[in-house]
Amino acid sequence: MSAPLHAFDPAELCAMPVETLARYDVAGPRYTSYPTAPVWTDAYGPARYAEALARGAASGRPLSIYVHLPFCESLCIYCGCNVIITKRHDRAEGYVRRVMREIDMTAEAAGAARRRTIQVAWGGGTPTFLSPEQIERLMGHIAARFPLAADAEVGIEVDPRVTTRDHVRSIVRSGFNRISMGVQDFDPDVQKTIHRVQPFEMTKALVDACREEGLRSVNVDLVYGLPKQTLAKFESTIDRVLEIAPERVSAFSYAHVPWLKPQQKHFRDEDLPRGAAKFAIFARLLGRLAAAGWDFIGMDHFARPDNELAVAQRTGGLWRNFQGFTTKAGADLVGVGVTSIGSVAGTFAQNAKDEEDWGASVDRGEFPVRKGHVLTRDDEIRAAAIQDVMCRYRMDWDEFGRAHGIDARTYFASAAPQVARFAEDGLVAANGDGFALTSRGRFFVRNVCMAFDAHLAPAEKPVFSRTL
Ligand code: SF4
Repeated sequence: MSAPLHAFDPAELCAMPVETLARYDVAGPRYTSYPTAPVWTDAYGPARYAEALARGAASGRPLSIYVHLPFCESLCIYCGCNVIITKRHDRAEGYVRRVMREIDMTAEAAGAARRRTIQVAWGGGTPTFLSPEQIERLMGHIAARFPLAADAEVGIEVDPRVTTRDHVRSIVRSGFNRISMGVQDFDPDVQKTIHRVQPFEMTKALVDACREEGLRSVNVDLVYGLPKQTLAKFESTIDRVLEIAPERVSAFSYAHVPWLKPQQKHFRDEDLPRGAAKFAIFARLLGRLAAAGWDFIGMDHFARPDNELAVAQRTGGLWRNFQGFTTKAGADLVGVGVTSIGSVAGTFAQNAKDEEDWGASVDRGEFPVRKGHVLTRDDEIRAAAIQDVMCRYRMDWDEFGRAHGIDARTYFASAAPQVARFAEDGLVAANGDGFALTSRGRFFVRNVCMAFDAHLAPAEKPVFSRTL
């Protein structure tokens, strides 16, 4: 008998005991990769990336491409992204031209013309900082070099404050079939505090425009744990999300990391909901979305039952990569643009973080990669275990051992005491065959994954955000 999959019960998750919350509210990775970025080093550079691209080309694996567009007109104080704040839209043209050059170099080295591209993602920053014409030109450039599969996922992140109807039309004409928009919270007081004033009517008008122009997959991003957020006030944000009724909702935990993002020092400690107060906000969202028919995908994602993420979750086809949860697995991911991240032929690669440094490399015709990591066999086994826990909510020792040619019980013996502790605390249901995450475990899935992470060490300085 294998470890049975535990049926998800919103009530069980929402009734999390305060002491369990406190015990698992620790700093930890979000596991969009394993090993995580702090492990990567500058021993990996352009030459190793070029080798990896050549190996990927020989493999014929499908491709996925991420384009980082870093510009934003103003800084939202909570923001944890790599951004360039400017109101000068003329800066975008030079950037777009360099990105096109980097796309040319990458497509050639990766043999993209002979491979299928199954996923395109534009993130930022604010991709709609670009003009509608620039969006169409850049997407046309990508599609001409990375032939898209008929069912490719083509997604873009937008900021409703700068996205016009013309933008939406150019997004649709360019072939995007998914749009994700930042909201965070509809409460005016919270919006003022985070420096992101975005009236509900503005977001609603953009969602309506997307639907009228034919975009069928709209995601709304929320953030819980923001300053001045309270349970009572968040109820009306949830009312408004239900009114918009997007196909997907992402509810990210606010990552308070002022040592990495100094602008966050502007927030007053006493304004930040923490621990049980922060969890109560998430739990209310989860309870109400579940009652309204959304499925909890895990960690911070919700989708309507007929959405592909929810279908993939039910059929075992869910995966996690740098973009979060996805239905597309097994592709080499190439990143273009400043700070972008790729995952190619068993390696991770990250571009220069400085725009000038990145641009100078591209102008010289060199890959602007500044750090990365070559996965060892141990990394690959642990990454697979973390994928199973994150996306399938279970670990079956024999099944996993057969798939990876190991004795999994022995291999992961050091995780056993932690798994036993998770079982005592109701995060997993365990038997001799393995374990399955309970409803509570699905919320603290990062903590469960940490038991399989061989690179975690007490950091000299804080690196990760908290798991709650
Ligand atoms: S618009 Fe998005 S990326 Fe830009 S500063 Fe605000 S949160 Fe960050």
